[in-house]
Amino acid sequence: MKPISSIAKGIAPSATVAVDTLAKQMKADGIDVIGFGAGEPDFPTPDSIKVAAIKAISDNQTRYTPAAGIVPLRNAICQWMKREYGVDYQPSQICVSSGAKHNVFIALQAICNPGDEVILPAPYWVTYEESIKMTGGVPVVINTTEQTRFKVTPEMLEQVITPKTKALILTNPSNPTGMLYSKQELEAIAQVVLKHDLYVISDEIYDKLVYVGEFTCFATLGEEIKQRTITINGASKSFAMTGWRIGFAAANEEISKAMANYLSHSTGNPCSVSQYAALEAYSTQEDLLTKMQLAYARRRKYFLERIKKLKDVSCLEPDGAFYIFMNIKGLLGRTIQGVTINSSADFAQALLEKGLVAVVPGEAFGAPGYVRWSYATSMENIREGLDRLEKFLSE
Ligand code: PMP
Ligand code: GLU
Repeated sequence: MKPISSIAKGIAPSATVAVDTLAKQMKADGIDVIGFGAGEPDFPTPDSIKVAAIKAISDNQTRYTPAAGIVPLRNAICQWMKREYGVDYQPSQICVSSGAKHNVFIALQAICNPGDEVILPAPYWVTYEESIKMTGGVPVVINTTEQTRFKVTPEMLEQVITPKTKALILTNPSNPTGMLYSKQELEAIAQVVLKHDLYVISDEIYDKLVYVGEFTCFATLGEEIKQRTITINGASKSFAMTGWRIGFAAANEEISKAMANYLSHSTGNPCSVSQYAALEAYSTQEDLLTKMQLAYARRRKYFLERIKKLKDVSCLEPDGAFYIFMNIKGLLGRTIQGVTINSSADFAQALLEKGLVAVVPGEAFGAPGYVRWSYATSMENIREGLDRLEKFLSE
């Protein structure tokens, strides 16, 4: 048989999805594992959103819709962007897609030619690297460290920019580190972006989950920046709507048209019922978020207090999102419960098998020596999970 696509052969499965699937399967098999793998809100979708979806079904909103989403939803997203960040978009500049993950994919499809370089600061969310490769683009990874709080600086960018550089991917707040860029830091990056005429894919899906500092929407940094920015956001994290699969991108007309064309030939449209649910989420004046934000803030605080008491592991205090990015370099070379830990992948595997706790190894995020814990899970799970970690480390 002829070989399958060489691009497809080079694509690895998502490690976050894999860890989550494994933990769920172990649970289904009766194994008492605690999953800190997927970054998925543990809250149910708010009732008002569910009611809107049920109404959409009763009203027979069950047919094809425009590829980039129904106009009322795109309108509501424009108004939401204006209300939240004071930034102006027309509905034609909004592409609603089947999750922000797919928006990242079509954004890259819209701007990259094969061979184009896309700058990807590490630690990065797993999906970016593979999405760049799926376009035939070349990921150019910048390894950031705890020294700059895992943030990329203008100097680091200048070092890797070549005539082939097309775009930069920024995640703010970051998955997996939880770090937030200040407005000044973003402005400095924006200058480099303008100097070299780059596009920026600004993934702002955790914009509403910030505990320290103030979030800045990258597209608000001036008209020239707005023209070059594809803002990615979505309902998954802010409204606890992961399974509904609704994300969006806001971009200039040329890019949003290109993305809509891709959508029209691929997904067709995002699920119609989910779109009506998202319409309720983005247009409601009801405060759907505070309860969830407060719960995440409490869990974050508890997590940090417990980690401070542990030997050989540490973490920077995250500003936002719902992740703890734990440095486990102090454990490398040690044997724990009969297993020699030579990498964070070894650590994650041993912690799962011996400690019944699922975390994602840093290798998946381009950051060996670390593991990611998601605190989008109940306080009881966090307490028990950290007890298990402590026990695992002490034996
Ligand atoms: N961007 C980041 C940084 C994420 O962590 C996620 C989580 N899945 C996504 C995008 C995609 O979210 P979704 O596809 O559920 O909208
Ligand atoms: N974004 C979440 C995570 O990083 C969900 C899983 C995924 O889609 O990667 O865990």
